[in-house]
Amino acid sequence: MRNINGKVFIFRHRLSSSANTYMIPCQESVIIIDPGLPDLVDFYIEHLSIFEYIHIIHTHMHYDHIATTPLLKKIFEDKAKVYHHENEAKFLEEGDSISTLATYFNEYLPPIKVDKELKEGYLIIDGTPLAILHTPGHTIGSICILYKNIIFTGDLLFSDGNVGRLDLPTGNRVDLFRSLSKLERVNAEVIAPGHGSVTKRPLKGLIEEVRLRLGPYI
Ligand SMILES: [Zn+2]
Ligand SMILES: [Zn+2]
Repeated sequence: MRNINGKVFIFRHRLSSSANTYMIPCQESVIIIDPGLPDLVDFYIEHLSIFEYIHIIHTHMHYDHIATTPLLKKIFEDKAKVYHHENEAKFLEEGDSISTLATYFNEYLPPIKVDKELKEGYLIIDGTPLAILHTPGHTIGSICILYKNIIFTGDLLFSDGNVGRLDLPTGNRVDLFRSLSKLERVNAEVIAPGHGSVTKRPLKGLIEEVRLRLGPYI
């Protein structure tokens, strides 16, 4: 676990295919962004048990980001609350292993109850204000989360100027370009992506690189 900025931490997963997991401790609860693959369950039990609630926010529905969530729900029961964008809630609640890519990892996804469906807008969790941006493209319900000067970009944008795959279920190139334009207007100093390293590179320059690499809009 390493501090990335202010009171935001990143967990180091042993499995390199896992998404990055971020933690924001609040007053009596904790926010976990993308719990990732289940290689850190023991660590989670040790560090999260002290909190009254565990608020789990997914940047999108892919298995490498959400695989630990059913385990956390089982262990922490009603203390664990799941937040997911409304466009993808049904894939989780139906345990759709194809759309969530669980089958790609030779696993299956048990149905996950979504406690709060997210929309674009502001969200306050235990006194911690977050802005949710709906940024489809990689998947139909992908979100970015802005907390203070940190933007959590999921698989929309990585620190090396790459973007998440567009050829997976519900991926859409036009949506991706629109989402990048939306992200470009965000005032953030730290980019905390779903994979790879955290960076302080300016969003605008990084997105310009993506546009050059991806070519024309359509
Ligand atoms: Zn991912
Ligand atoms: Zn993904």
